[in-house]
This record gives sequence, structure tokens and C-alpha cells, in this order.
Amino acid sequence: MNHELYVMDHIKELSELLDFEYGSPDHNNKKDPLDELMYILLSRRTRGIGYEMVYDKLKKKFPNWEDTAKAPSQQILRVIESAGLGPKRVREIKENLYIIHEHFGEYSLNRLRKWHNTKVFEFLTSLEGIGPKSAYCIMMYSLEREVFPVDTHVNRICQRLGLIEMGLDHKKGQTLLADVFRGPLRYSLHVNMVAHGREVCRSTNPRCSNCIIAGFCKWIRLKSKADGKHIFADLFAGAGGMSLGFEKAGYNLQMGIDSNPRACATFLHNRTYLDAEKVINEDIEVIDPERYTEKGIKVIVAGPPCQEFSRVRKNGFGETGRNELYKQVLHFVKAIKPVFVVIENVPGMASHLNRKYVKKVENGFRKLGYAVHSEMINAKHYGIPQNRLRLFFIARRVYKDSWEATERAINRVWERIHLEKQDTRVSFLQGISGLPRLSPGEGADLLGNDGRGKSSDYARKMIYNGGIIFNHIARKHNPRDLEAYATMEEGENALDLHGKKPDLMPYSTKNFPTKFFKIRSDDPSPTIVAHLRRDANSFIHPRDNRGITPREAARLQSFPDNYRFLGSFGLQFEQIGNAVPPLLAEVIGNAIMEELDSSERGKNHG
Ligand code: SF4
Repeated sequence: MNHELYVMDHIKELSELLDFEYGSPDHNNKKDPLDELMYILLSRRTRGIGYEMVYDKLKKKFPNWEDTAKAPSQQILRVIESAGLGPKRVREIKENLYIIHEHFGEYSLNRLRKWHNTKVFEFLTSLEGIGPKSAYCIMMYSLEREVFPVDTHVNRICQRLGLIEMGLDHKKGQTLLADVFRGPLRYSLHVNMVAHGREVCRSTNPRCSNCIIAGFCKWIRLKSKADGKHIFADLFAGAGGMSLGFEKAGYNLQMGIDSNPRACATFLHNRTYLDAEKVINEDIEVIDPERYTEKGIKVIVAGPPCQEFSRVRKNGFGETGRNELYKQVLHFVKAIKPVFVVIENVPGMASHLNRKYVKKVENGFRKLGYAVHSEMINAKHYGIPQNRLRLFFIARRVYKDSWEATERAINRVWERIHLEKQDTRVSFLQGISGLPRLSPGEGADLLGNDGRGKSSDYARKMIYNGGIIFNHIARKHNPRDLEAYATMEEGENALDLHGKKPDLMPYSTKNFPTKFFKIRSDDPSPTIVAHLRRDANSFIHPRDNRGITPREAARLQSFPDNYRFLGSFGLQFEQIGNAVPPLLAEVIGNAIMEELDSSERGKNHG
């Protein structure tokens, strides 16, 4: 991905984050344009808040600008010299007041309110000591124009975000950035960036660990280094669930590939150590795996999209090129020759087709010299509050034709995975505990940390101490759906609803018996699916009369609360539904890691 385009595509989200943190603060700028002009003249090259005090003193001594214009220079100098300002500044003040009076016949710039932007800008920049940035400040703060002033803070932050080249002075930055952002965003971006530059993104020692916009920063990526042990690549990376698990297990991500631009943006946003160029937003079929043969990739993970199976169901195998995406994985495996490969797929089709598919994938691996074993894994057995059954293939490269020894290695990996199974289940309510309760239509993409109730052990692992909850918005529902939800008890579905109140059931229960489902509080949730982007009728919250939110779905998938999903409400659900639960991926990553480590110690072959 191109970092600059990524930031520009998400400038609204970036602006919202800054606004959430700083709330568009008042920097003491003036509503009157001549007041603002004088305030700016006094602030130029003045340190600290000295200019604010001097401005107030000047206004006290000379209540209107006519008094200042007519006052002896020495008197003005005596007021402003406490801020380190000298006769030159006095000359600028007096000269500008003279020009303004000559031009407008009064000591006021109010007539600028009727002028168009270009004329205002030309006039202001013709004044002594007023450059483009100062002119834009007067226009933005006092004349309410949608312009974008670039001071040193804004310039520095935009450089670190990768929007302009590093090392440019703010005058050059002003020229380059003047028209880059959409008009309505300019005011809040400016005032919040000034606050951010003063408090966090300082010129020296920026407090990056406290930075709310780190997910968009290029600079932090240049400074950070991934410290994982073994290098892995994620094909069909989606929003990054599988990668997150492998990262937590101690792997070092080399690249993530996905054809969905929003998923790629989410993937990059949540990895502040990763260069944008390592997130490849392309169709895997057009990528040449030979480009990555020298990267030391030891593990390839992949979750080819679920459509694979629905197409298979309709068309059978091999009728179109697109329905066998696992072949793309094998294409990469053949070129890169990783030690291990993990593929996640959706089962749930007719079992004979499933078996046929499994055989084809396993044969594909064997032809490439990989031993492989596949099994169904249900996320609910691994401490995840969701009944999610998926098919996993784990393959290992055969070393020096020792198939038996390699198969033993695969078995050890699966044994370790089985050992992590838990007897107790995490329930839906435990999964979402601590998240604010919402009524239909309530919530926000960014929510503060207030209102957290008691949290379960599981939820405490998901809670982020930084205090923001992302993507917690509840859908609005029509009156009929609200009545249907209220009519249903936990665990009831469309058939039950039809039995109680047939007129509330808009679908044929024959075709869609699970079209409506109210989740049971004390059980793991049903499988979180991408279909949630369309409606949440099959995911009705058992206590609040509404469908679940994207954040609740993310909790049920074991994403931590600070993992933000970018894109619209529907696209957030799609990314979450398509992801591999990170906690489960971590279990698999750990099981493979032990094998890789012992291989390196020479205990096992390969
Ligand atoms: S991560 Fe650091 S350098 Fe980047 S914007 Fe934030 S504070 Fe500035």
C-alpha cells in the first residue's frame, strides 16, 4: 500500500481521533480579524506564552487599534519589550495599522468579510510581517474561511504522517498542504494538530506510546522494528486475525496480502511497526511469489475466502479458476518453500464435497513435498466465546525425504493444539462484558471508557487500558423487528417467532429457519459471519433489544478492544466475520513455534 494514499483515504477517521482526544481546543485566537492580525504579529518568533500577556497588556493600555496607531513608538515598545520584542515589531504594528486605515478608512479589517478568498489572501500577505500561514490563520480563525494554516506543529505532524517530505520548513509545508484536505475538516485538523504537536508529537522526544494517531504515522514505522523470531507471511490476510495471533505467538510478519482495500487499511492501521509497502492490496493471482523467495519466510498462513465453498456447492470443483483459491496458496508455497503452512477454510458443505476438497488440497501439498494433516477446530474449545467450526490444514515441508519423521512433527503440532483445549466455555455475556450497554441507534465509532461494568476474565484480556472502545455502534431497527426481538426468548429462532406471532416473520421459515435468532447469554455465540453487514437478525442481543455491534462481534472473535476496524459499519462487520479468531491463531502459532525452535536446536530434522 502507498502510505500517503492510505492516510488520505482515512483522513476523516484521523481527524475524528484527534477531535476525540483534544476536542478542537481554543488556542486563544481572536474573532476580530485585526485583533488576530496583531496577535499573530506579536507571536512571531516569540517564545512561550509571552505574546499572549503582551497582547493583553497592549489592549489594556490602548483599548482600540486607533489608540495604538497614534501612540508614540516608545510607549508601544515599553509594553511589548517584556516578551523580547523590539523596535522592528513596533514598526510593523504601526505600518500595518497605517496601511489598513489608508485602505479602508478605519482601523478594522471587517470589510474583508465580504471579499473572496483570493483577494483576502493577497491583501493580507501584502502587509508587513504577514506570510501565507499568518494570512490563513486570520482567514480561518476570524473570517471563518475553510483554509488550512500550516505552522511548525502541523508541518511536523504532516511530515511524520508521510503526507509531505521530511525536513521541509513550514513555509514549504504551507504551500504543499494548503489545499490537500477537504474544506470542512481543515479547522478541526489544524487546531487539534497544534494541540497534538504541543502535547504529544513534540519536535524532540515525541510521546509515541501515547499517540492516538500512531496507526496513521509513517515515522513510527520507520523507527520501529518487529522483534519476532520466525518470519511469516499472511496470504488472504483480511483484517489481520490470523496475523495477530501469530504475532502474539512471537512471529515476525513479512507481508500481508489481500484484495480488499478496507481490510488492508485495517491490517496496516493496527500494526504501527509495519511499513505500508508490506501490506499488498492486490488480487493474489497477479502477484509473483518469486519476489518473496529471499525474505526468509518460514511460515505461510492463509484463510482463502468463504465464497470458495458456496461456489463449490453450486458448481463443483474445478469448473472455474476462482473456486480453487487454495491453489494460489500452493503457488506461493512452491516458490517460497516455507517450513510450515496453515490454511483455514469454512466447512459446512455436503460432507462428500468436503472430503473431496480436503483430498485435493492434501494431494496438492504432497506433490510439493509437504506432509499435511487437516482437522476441524471449534473456537469455543479454546476459550473463545463463539461456536465457530473451521477446517485447518497444517503442512510441513519434508526434509530429505523423511516423510515419516515429518508426519510425526505434524502430529506433535496437532497434539499441542489439542492440549490447549479447555473444558469450560466462555459465554456470550462473559465475552462482551465490560462494554457499554446500548439501545438501538446508540454508540459511536469512538467511545470513551466510561460506563464499563464488571468484566469477566476473558474480557479483561480484551480490554485496552488506553480507554477507547472502537466500532461500538448499535443498529437502528424498524418497529416490526424491535417487536420481533422483544417477542423472542434467548435461544429462540424464526420458527419460534413464527409460532408466537406469525405476522412478525417476514421470511419463509422453510427457507430461513435461522433467519432470526436470539443469542443465549450463557452459551458461546453462534458463528460470527460477514453477513452481519446486511442485518443482525440472527445475532439478537439477549438483554438489549437490538442486534450486536461490530465491537461485540470483534470481542466474540477475540480481537482486543484497541483493534480498530476501518471502513463503513457494514464493512467493519464483513472484516470481523471473515477473520480467524486471533486467540485461536495464537494457539496454532505457539504449537508450530515449538517445532521450529526444536528444529533449529537440531532436535528434530528440517
Ligand atoms: S506516533 Fe509519534 S511521531 Fe507519529 S504522530 Fe504520533 S507522536 Fe508523532
